[in-house]
Amino acid sequence: MRILVIEDEVHLAEALSHILKKNNYIVDISNDGESGLDNALSDIYDVILLDIMLPKMDGITVLKNIRAEGLDVPVLLLTAKGEISDKVRGLDSGADDYLAKPFNTEELLARVRAMCRRRGVIANSNNLLCFGDITLNTSTLNLSTEKGEINLTLKEFELLEYLILHKNIVAQKEQIIEKLWGFDSEAKANHVEVYVSFLRKKLKFVHSDVSISTVRGVGYILKE
Ligand code: CA
Repeated sequence: MRILVIEDEVHLAEALSHILKKNNYIVDISNDGESGLDNALSDIYDVILLDIMLPKMDGITVLKNIRAEGLDVPVLLLTAKGEISDKVRGLDSGADDYLAKPFNTEELLARVRAMCRRRGVIANSNNLLCFGDITLNTSTLNLSTEKGEINLTLKEFELLEYLILHKNIVAQKEQIIEKLWGFDSEAKANHVEVYVSFLRKKLKFVHSDVSISTVRGVGYILKE
């Protein structure tokens, strides 16, 4: 799950990133509205946390542009306390929810989980994602079947999560690279191949019937 934090208060942005990373989300930060919009339009995010008062372009304008481009990514607005008119404007402009600063960590995580669920990306409130005979625990990174269990590394987890969430379509290698390593990374197709081979070994280790099928020249798809 990849989250974009658009927030100009550097300490707050870092704190948000720290909390989210600890909870196994991949996080990118933008410190102004313009770069935030640029990043958002790459369409690789599952949730966007958006501050309203931002340099270069305010949050409401960022949000309107995101929606004008037809992106339906859930957006959680971060509002300063008591800015009721901002909340109303934000929701009118296509925000899914808002959180007043200062907020507590548990509330933030609950809102983010709720947004993921609403979008159908997390299977249930126990943070379990299921496919075929496997269960993937998104908080402990544990992969299990009735016959065994094993812990995944963060990248293995991110890859398997991505494949489960795109279970009915072929996941393209380029999309996997953008999603897991970011659109400006140096990661190459062989990074994906390496992690696919690790994951195949772990699926075998837990005696799963699920396999990762290669679609030549395109990418991968999960098969039961
Ligand atoms: Ca701000």
